[in-house]
Amino acid sequence: MRRRHLWQNARMRSTRRAALRLCGLCLILLLAGCNLPVRQTPAATAGPTATLGAPFPTVTLMPTLTPEAAPPVEATAPTAPARTPTPTATPFAEPAGCQRPPEDYTRVTLDRGAWVAVLNARTVAMLQHAQTLYAGPVNFIDAITQGSYNSTEAASFGTHDGGGAVDISVLGRNADGTWYVHDTAPMIRALRLAGFAAWVRQPGDLYQGSPIHIHAVAVGDAELSPAAQTQLTGEEGYFRGFDGLPDYDPPRPDPHGGPVLCAWMRDLGYADLRATP
Ligand SMILES: [Zn+2]
Repeated sequence: MRRRHLWQNARMRSTRRAALRLCGLCLILLLAGCNLPVRQTPAATAGPTATLGAPFPTVTLMPTLTPEAAPPVEATAPTAPARTPTPTATPFAEPAGCQRPPEDYTRVTLDRGAWVAVLNARTVAMLQHAQTLYAGPVNFIDAITQGSYNSTEAASFGTHDGGGAVDISVLGRNADGTWYVHDTAPMIRALRLAGFAAWVRQPGDLYQGSPIHIHAVAVGDAELSPAAQTQLTGEEGYFRGFDGLPDYDPPRPDPHGGPVLCAWMRDLGYADLRATP
């Protein structure tokens, strides 16, 4: 009876030890599972369930990561440099003679016999308006020596490549065949009121021996070449109070008294950009 009792005790102890060992193993494995480093993986591969092997309970090592949508990348369109209107203390007063030109870019070809001048209808309308304001001896359209859309004249450095650019002769001929220069001041005034950035190019201004003439760029012409646009608002530009020639550093001042600003030019975003003292 005692032997049986002892044997039973021994067997129970052995069973208990085995149970304890099993529980201990479970505990170690569970703890080991808890201590395993949890590594975050990219959302696309998140969520694999790691198991330590049956029949042990499944231990989830990694929380399921919710894929996050990447923030949309907004394309930034290049922006043109903004024209900064110069604040003026006095209200804007438009000079008499301003007239908005028609936005008509139909090409007009002027046949000059040995050559042609091509303008757009907007530029022609502006020249016709300038003619009525001028009322002098020079016919602007007849006196054209270079039109627009012409990239063959290197001395014009691209200003005539697009629309709105025109060269006008200021020379008259005496009865004896000699040349004289017209009074250019009223010509410039009329062309500026009609909407041109216009300057007298003196002899030699463009190259050695270059002839005197008026170079004019139609303000707001939608087909201006980049070089012509620079003559309006660039560093040496008309609206900054300079003569539009890029080869001078610093730029040369406008010899004709600064820009004429009409309301329609302001509507297009142009402004008097001369530095205020
Ligand atoms: Zn020119």
